[in-house]
Amino acid sequence: MKRLAVLGQPIAHSRSPAMQTAALEDLGLADEWSYEAIEMPPADFAELTRALPAEGFVGANVTIPHKEAALALSGDASPAATEIGAANTLSFLDDRIRADNTDAPGLIAALPAPPSGKRALVLGAGGSARAAIWALSRQGAGVEVWNRTAERGDEVVRELARSGEGTEAEGRLTPVTADQVRANAYDLIVNCTAVGLDSGDDPFGLLPIEPERLGPETTLVDLVYGGAETRLVGEARSRGAVTVDGLEVLVRQGAESLRIWTGMEPPLDVMREAARG
Ligand code: NAP
Repeated sequence: MKRLAVLGQPIAHSRSPAMQTAALEDLGLADEWSYEAIEMPPADFAELTRALPAEGFVGANVTIPHKEAALALSGDASPAATEIGAANTLSFLDDRIRADNTDAPGLIAALPAPPSGKRALVLGAGGSARAAIWALSRQGAGVEVWNRTAERGDEVVRELARSGEGTEAEGRLTPVTADQVRANAYDLIVNCTAVGLDSGDDPFGLLPIEPERLGPETTLVDLVYGGAETRLVGEARSRGAVTVDGLEVLVRQGAESLRIWTGMEPPLDVMREAARG
């Protein structure tokens, strides 16, 4: 049996086992491949992960809070994972651990249209924001970054602009204040903050977005997902904006990981249905 897993803490809520197991079944691989969730405390992550290949594991997704540690563990990281500074996909090869980041191509694949030439706003400066900023700027969008803690936003922009030096992405990244965000109009807004995780959160109080600015000309992506539609997605949708929810982004990053491990074309509709439960 070729075993796969998602590694995280907490992990019980993860939709990845249902989604990936459904995909393996659809691909006719269920007799040879399996996918499970493994809870790992940060202190033991490196040791436990290094032991996985001996137990039959060929790959793993990695989620909060291990994505930086996953990159550090690998002796063979993709340029994207290295520049983003985080890996969410590990492949246990004969002689090494390969690290990839599929959050970045997953976000791009989830968009209704290529972001090239678009004016994008990324809210947040944590791990998922780094992948989004990297992906959008490499795809030719102008990316403005707002974060609650401004210094952290500035630092992420500095680091990712440095990694883009000499490429077309250089110069396409700008930190912005809440007042600047309110004065601007964006083609694409990506929420990479934790706002909305708690269903009581008011996104329009906590983030510098005004509901009346969300119209048909805007695409809103909310990485946050839970049981129900987030308030941000609901409000944007009701105002005619194009919306992409966190489950669609989850499906797309999972599909990219599955492609890396199996080399097969992932069944997106099957994965969507399973992820949505
Ligand atoms: P993270 O590294 O912990 O970053 C959290 C971000 O949220 C920081 O920018 C933080 O700002 C901001 N934030 C937290 N509380 C806030 C508040 N009350 N008001 C304004 N900003 C606030 O987390 P992450 O890994 O980037 O994940 C962020 C979200 O995306 C999570 O909800 C996660 O579940 C989701 N996610 C979804 C997918 C997917 O596939 N759909 C993938 C990855 C992550 P400060 O710097 O000021 O603290």
